[in-house]
Amino acid sequence: MINFKELASKYKTPLYIYDLDYMTKQFEELKEAFKARKSILAYAVKANSNLSVIQHFAKMGAGADCVSIGEVRRAFLAGVPSYKIFFSGVGKTDDEIREAIEKDILYINVESEAELARIELIARELKMKSRISIRVNPNIDPKTHPYISTGLHDNKFGVEIDTAKRMYIKANNSDFLNPVGIHFHIGSQLTELQPIYEASVIVADMVRSLEAIDINLKFYDVGGGLGIKYDKETTIKPYDYAQAVLSTLKGLDLTVICEPGRFLTANAGYFLTKVMYEKQNAAKRFVVIDGAMNDLLRPALYGAYHKIEAITDSKSELSKADIVGPVCESGDFFAKDYALPNLEHNDLIVVHSAGAYGFGMGSNYNTRGRSAEIALKDGKARVIRKREEFEDLISLEKEFLQD
Ligand SMILES: *Cc1c(COP(=O)(O)O)cnc(C)c1O
Repeated sequence: MINFKELASKYKTPLYIYDLDYMTKQFEELKEAFKARKSILAYAVKANSNLSVIQHFAKMGAGADCVSIGEVRRAFLAGVPSYKIFFSGVGKTDDEIREAIEKDILYINVESEAELARIELIARELKMKSRISIRVNPNIDPKTHPYISTGLHDNKFGVEIDTAKRMYIKANNSDFLNPVGIHFHIGSQLTELQPIYEASVIVADMVRSLEAIDINLKFYDVGGGLGIKYDKETTIKPYDYAQAVLSTLKGLDLTVICEPGRFLTANAGYFLTKVMYEKQNAAKRFVVIDGAMNDLLRPALYGAYHKIEAITDSKSELSKADIVGPVCESGDFFAKDYALPNLEHNDLIVVHSAGAYGFGMGSNYNTRGRSAEIALKDGKARVIRKREEFEDLISLEKEFLQD
């Protein structure tokens, strides 16, 4: 049990808390599920990009799936070896591509024909050969929220199978490109196995058809997306997930790469806040807390559900309330019509499942400094990011004030 009261008084609120031991458990379960094959678990850094979190996974042997050169630099700083770093994303800049090639990461995930041409040009300038993988879009409906679905032709990600084939042939004939992998990632928060299986069948067939023309890939990257329980979802068991993927790879000698983000970190994280005020109008009860949408955007952005826990001595009956933050937007809420007892000033509200896509989506909107981040390991707490102060927020502007 985490002692939220003690953490609140020691580190103040709002506060992000990550249970690293829970992350270890998730990592080991998934690693175990893939043990029948050579595999790399590449942590999807964007889910929670705190250096200490990346380092925690790196120490267990994880790679890093990065979506910007900033994330690639974080992965290096956190001790992930270059041969376990991948770089994905639909809009990589020339500078990002150059640095990725120079840093000799395992490969760049290519998302369009135009991008492949850019990478070839840049590798030629550098007189280097760039390892690449192509992200294919298998046009499978992942049955998740439309904003986090990525594997349909409606989505901006990846290329269609026929285009991918053309790109592999081009890359294979180039002196500056080395096609080593294939990649798909159909969406996030996946709770059904069938779409993953169907996508993998399509992509594995693609690998076979490339072998037939003597293009032999080494890496089979199934993306991330494993869902977690925010509420009452039924989730996919890591073992079943691995079996479904591996069953499509019969006769293929490939290293499997998996890029989980949410699965590893979401339920390890808590966003701890304090109640400031209760407020009632003709229609509604509001509980105003000291955390806001600039700390945790998911409810505002996707209407995401997070379990809320009140820590209070109040024994009153439960009644429905909206839990809202101080930011000047009606979208600044954590939950609507949530049953809670009457709360007092300084009671605590814990927002659960906040370890993925939480802090990283934060901003300084309303000139609010971002929360501190705390890691728990073996029963001990330590700061892994300081709370932002006003001076931090204005440091890049102050010098431009005029007399
Ligand atoms: C976001 C992302 C992931 C991680 O997704 P989760 O749902 O957090 O597991 C993996 N791979 C790619 C390419 C991504 O964009």
